[in-house]
Amino acid sequence: MKLLEGKPVAEKIKEQIRQRIKSLDRAPVLASVMVGENAGAAAYVKSQQKTAEGLGIEYRLHTLPQETTEDRLTAFIRDLNADARVNGIIIQMPLPGHIDYKKISQFISPEKDIEGMHPANMGKIVFGKAAMLPCTPAAVMELLKETGIDVYGKEVVVVGHSEIVGKPLALLLLEKLATVTVCHIGTSKAQKLEEHVARAEVLIVAVGKAGLIKGTLIKEGAVVIDVGINRVGDKIVGDVEFEEAAKRASWITPVPGGVGPLTVTMLMRNVVEAAVSQR
Ligand code: NDP
Repeated sequence: MKLLEGKPVAEKIKEQIRQRIKSLDRAPVLASVMVGENAGAAAYVKSQQKTAEGLGIEYRLHTLPQETTEDRLTAFIRDLNADARVNGIIIQMPLPGHIDYKKISQFISPEKDIEGMHPANMGKIVFGKAAMLPCTPAAVMELLKETGIDVYGKEVVVVGHSEIVGKPLALLLLEKLATVTVCHIGTSKAQKLEEHVARAEVLIVAVGKAGLIKGTLIKEGAVVIDVGINRVGDKIVGDVEFEEAAKRASWITPVPGGVGPLTVTMLMRNVVEAAVSQR
């Protein structure tokens, strides 16, 4: 079994990003919009800022008051869209309850949508012409590349069908001609999750339920990528029972330390690619 760690892959990609930035005549600018104060978001922002600045990306944090209306936020985003100096925009989650992220994120110009969540960017994935990939699916694809295993014709099972992870990831895998099965709550309710997991040559789990995937189910030699992040007591664990799964898998991501360290790097790659194409 080999550990599929995110950090070394992230370091490699960061080096490519630094080279790419050298081809620009000025530092790319990432505008980060946070509405209200939230400890979780603040920690994420700090880590984004550190990564951005370490790469030579200017990180502009805009903190708007908790009572900001959807209209006000939309106007703010429009100003950022119009600001030629801003290359990428990210809206930090969670937003206050009165703001609908899905609605708001559509106002970000697709060229500056570094999270890849605008319908125009999602749509391009269907045509195999993704310009701005959502960060977590992009991170998973990079980890898969690292194994050297070609998913062409392989039984790839994705557990979780969220718009941010499972759905776009399934399309990216399909583009590589993997035989993709997407499992979700319906699969579990029909008591079929175990049979799908057991035949997976590549298993990717993005649910957010500790211990959902029994380690004993993992097929001998499978590649296991666990996207899940769950707090259990004072520990962070994934969705897959790591110890048992590791006895069977050929490659397995640790949690933490697998997908996580790569996602923020993918965000920075999008900022730089946005800056390159906006030249
Ligand atoms: P969502 O809650 O949006 O999606 C969870 C998905 O799991 C849904 O498709 C849901 O299906 C499905 N699901 C729920 N229960 C079951 C079950 N019993 N059996 C099968 N499927 C089930 O979460 P996200 O996609 O945003 O995130 C998933 C996990 O990945 C979380 O732990 C999150 O913290 C983590 N994450 C980690 C990242 C990283 O950088 N490492 C980045 C992003 C997310 P349905 O909707 O039908 O109920």
